[in-house]
Amino acid sequence: MAELVHALNPTRIVTRGSRLSEPDIKRLDPSPMQRKLRELVGSWIDSGPDLLVMFRKHPSLEGQLQGGSTLLLPMRGGKAYLEWQPFPATLSDLPPEEQALRYFALLITNPLWHRLGGPCARCGDYYLKNTVRQKTYCSRRCGSIRSAAEAVERRRENEYQQKIQRAQAAIEEWRDRKRREEWDSWVARHAKLTRHWITRAANKGKITPPSADPRARIASAQRKRWAKHKKEAATMGT
Ligand SMILES: [Zn+2]
Repeated sequence: MAELVHALNPTRIVTRGSRLSEPDIKRLDPSPMQRKLRELVGSWIDSGPDLLVMFRKHPSLEGQLQGGSTLLLPMRGGKAYLEWQPFPATLSDLPPEEQALRYFALLITNPLWHRLGGPCARCGDYYLKNTVRQKTYCSRRCGSIRSAAEAVERRRENEYQQKIQRAQAAIEEWRDRKRREEWDSWVARHAKLTRHWITRAANKGKITPPSADPRARIASAQRKRWAKHKKEAATMGT
C-alpha cells in the first residue's frame, strides 16, 4: 500500500532555509501515469468504493484488469505462496496508462484497500489512514494549518461586518443631521475608516450611501420642486 500511495502523490521537493525554519514544499506536476492513476482512484472512491458500480460505469476496465498471472513461490517447510501479478511485463516497460492500471489492480486486490485515504483537503495527497475516522487530512500538520487559516478568515469576516455596521450607523447620523460636509469624508472620519474603504464598500453594495436611499431621493426631488416653484413665482411677480 505504501508503494501505491507513493505512486499516487506528485513528487515533492522540500527545502529548508535553516534547521529551524518551516520547510518550503514545492510539488512537481503529476506525471501522465499519476494523472491516469488519480483518475482511476478518484472514480473508484466516487463509486462508493464499489467495484461493481465502477465497472458498470466503465465497462472496458474490467477486461483491461483481467490479464494478470499467478506465480507460485515455494517457501521453506511444506508451504508455497501464490502471488498474483496484474501484468506480466516489468513495470518500467509498460506505457503510463498500463502502469496506472497495474497500480490500480494492486489497490483493489490488496486486503488493506480500505486504508487508502485522500485526497487530503489541504495538500491533495493520498495517505494511509491511521484510524477509520481520519477522513479529511493526511496529517495533523495539514489539519492544524487549515483550521488556523479558517480561524483567521472568520476573524477577518467579523471585523469586516463590524466596519459595515459602523459605517452604516454613521451614514444614518449624517443624514439625520443634514451635514454640509460630503457624506463620505464625514462618515469615514466618524466611523474611523478610510474614504477609500467607504467608496469600495458602497460600490460593492455592502453599505447604502445616502443618495441611494429612496427616502433621500424623495427629499431631494421635493427640494428641487420647491426651488422650481419659487423661481416660477419670482418670474410671475416681475
Ligand atoms: Zn495534507
